[in-house]
Amino acid sequence: MQRITILGATGSIGVSTLDVVARHPDRYQVYALTAHSRVKELAEQCLRFHPEVAVVGSADAAQALSAILKEKGCKTEVAHGETALCDTASAAECDAVMAAIVGAAGLPPTLAAARAGKKILLANKEALVMSGQLFMDAVSASGAPLLPIDSEHNAIFQCLPHGYGRAPAHHGVSKVLLTASGGPFLKRELDTLHDVTPEEAVAHPNWVMGRKISVDSSTMMNKGLEVIEAHWLFGASAEQIEVVIHPQSVIHSMVSYVDGSVLAQLGNPDMRTPIAYGLAYPERIASGVGAVDLVKIAQLSFFQPDFQRFPCLRLAYDALLAGGTAPAILNAANEVAVQAFLDGRIGFRAIDQLIARVMDALPGTGIASLAELLDQDRLAREKALSFIQ
Ligand code: NDP
Repeated sequence: MQRITILGATGSIGVSTLDVVARHPDRYQVYALTAHSRVKELAEQCLRFHPEVAVVGSADAAQALSAILKEKGCKTEVAHGETALCDTASAAECDAVMAAIVGAAGLPPTLAAARAGKKILLANKEALVMSGQLFMDAVSASGAPLLPIDSEHNAIFQCLPHGYGRAPAHHGVSKVLLTASGGPFLKRELDTLHDVTPEEAVAHPNWVMGRKISVDSSTMMNKGLEVIEAHWLFGASAEQIEVVIHPQSVIHSMVSYVDGSVLAQLGNPDMRTPIAYGLAYPERIASGVGAVDLVKIAQLSFFQPDFQRFPCLRLAYDALLAGGTAPAILNAANEVAVQAFLDGRIGFRAIDQLIARVMDALPGTGIASLAELLDQDRLAREKALSFIQ
């Protein structure tokens, strides 16, 4: 029996994870569930899955959750705050951690899980983008098994040989090909992009996801973050990571080998497939997702991304090449810009402009510790906010 902590249980990935877990009560048991402020949703999950611990973001939220659970006779212990998140991610009672908090807030508990040697199912790409080497060092020091859940990285993982060890040259890997749907604005007239509303930006053509990642998909910053994520997960250089637009989202990514072979993983666009793969690895279990109907899909198309339409993708490659804290600065500026856009405080096109300004203003440094990294994250957020006001 695997005991699981789900960080970000009330989100899109969290809910899909619980869906898969519920299909296999003989294999998985929920140790802890966490959310930030959606107390009602977390309470419903606690009543259904009976975790030992539930964590929320504030004392008020904890009080509200405790009151609901007490009234229903549920014995789940309630805690709040970052220390409690880190404790549930590294607790002796837990075997595996689904890292599905959105944004930089996910880094401390995900890193705590890595340091404690837990099996990590990594959806929270921002954590890895920010901390890069620091995170990978923690994983290798503790021996924590790291399973990518992002569908593209999960696909690449599935197309790589066992014992790959982040060494492309030793395994004849020449490139990883990250597919991208292109999001909702792939074909929209360029000069109308400044009119984009938050509701248009979150309406992804193929995937149902949280609001932040949906906006990231519309700017293609999501793919940019994934380029950086692929660098750390698979040891590939920026030149070895190629983004290919594939609007149907059927091929989730590919690996190109020196002998001319290209291996791909295909599936319906449903996160339960990579989640089930990560949970059961190296076995396969039912996820609730049906097989792809290739005849019905009939056509798969591919083309190069346009950096003029998607400047965020270029900014992410620049951050990867700059190294050190540049990806963390990029990520922080993006989080502030996306929130400001969702709040109606800046326009769609201002997202990439704001990130570029922050990156120009902050030179970045090497990463020595988590404290220094979080300091750079804070500085980048302050700088981004100062440009908005
Ligand atoms: P959602 O916005 O749907 O859910 C986010 C979760 O994180 C919620 O449980 C939320 O709690 C919690 N949360 C938000 N802010 C904080 C905080 N400050 N501290 C602690 N917890 C917090 O996001 P998604 O599920 O879409 O995405 C989660 C992660 O997975 C992201 O990093 C995303 O990039 C990645 N991912 C998502 C995919 C998808 O299909 N959705 C695909 C691939 C990767 P509450 O509900 O209370 O606000």
